[in-house]
Amino acid sequence: MLLKDKVALITGSASGIGKEIAQEYARQGAKVVIADLALDAARAAADDITKAGGTAMAVAMNVTDEAQVNKGVEDAVNAFGGLDVLISNAGIQIISPVVDLSLDNWRKMLAIHLDGAFLTTRAAMKAMVKQGRGGSIIYMGSVHSHEASPLKAPYVTAKHGLLGLAKVVAKEGAKDKIRSNVICPGFVRTPLVEKQIPEQAKEFGISEDDVVKKIMLKDTVDGEFTTTQDVAQTAVFLAAFPTNALTGQSVVVSHGWYMQ
Ligand code: NAD
Repeated sequence: MLLKDKVALITGSASGIGKEIAQEYARQGAKVVIADLALDAARAAADDITKAGGTAMAVAMNVTDEAQVNKGVEDAVNAFGGLDVLISNAGIQIISPVVDLSLDNWRKMLAIHLDGAFLTTRAAMKAMVKQGRGGSIIYMGSVHSHEASPLKAPYVTAKHGLLGLAKVVAKEGAKDKIRSNVICPGFVRTPLVEKQIPEQAKEFGISEDDVVKKIMLKDTVDGEFTTTQDVAQTAVFLAAFPTNALTGQSVVVSHGWYMQ
């Protein structure tokens, strides 16, 4: 068990990548806090973990809401006696060419991906500094933290921005043994991606099969999707790493779509 008794709060963990990380962390002995928009969905994900023999609790948290973020982190610390790992994972996708993108949708994307990362980082870092036992902060970036694709301006902008935040947190956190890294997955078949396939097919006037083969997996080494388990294993590795040697980095998990 690589994360025995570590307390980990994962945003957006009622679904997709975050849910898989929460389940894998629990298998590795961590006490897991499922933080997501709807309390019902977060509770269901926490119940699944408890039924499988793990330890989990649910908190309702919109990551763009300062008060909810602070309360969620405080509740986690009170319930589980501290906080060792934050995974800032909550995210959405909005597909649109720049010329048709509304300011509202631009702001919404930056709020969830960047304000959310900032607010959760601030609350988690405060708790980690106070308890004095270090910590690991992990951001869910994307290959789009390094590459661009059409129709994804605010997503690409926000995911690039996370690299900057992670580097500053690595520098500021070092004295308190707080490490900060970014995981950059390629395409993973979660609800976020399933929704995009027909949307991109419509925008580009091609079939859904071509969206998968000619857009999403075109530049991978083997034409394969990254899996939620691939990302979860990377998140375990980063959280379990014992020293400040691995901090301020991004780890790309994408079947070679992007090579650093
Ligand atoms: P998903 O839609 O399956 O899960 C996203 C979760 O985030 C949902 O449970 C949703 O309720 C939650 N969420 C959305 N807005 C929120 C908010 N304001 N506050 C709290 N929770 C909120 O998507 P996923 O594919 O698992 O995506 C998770 C993360 O991984 C995102 O940051 C996404 O950008 C990133 N990512 C996904 C892929 C992919 O191909 N699926 C690739 C690279 C990066």
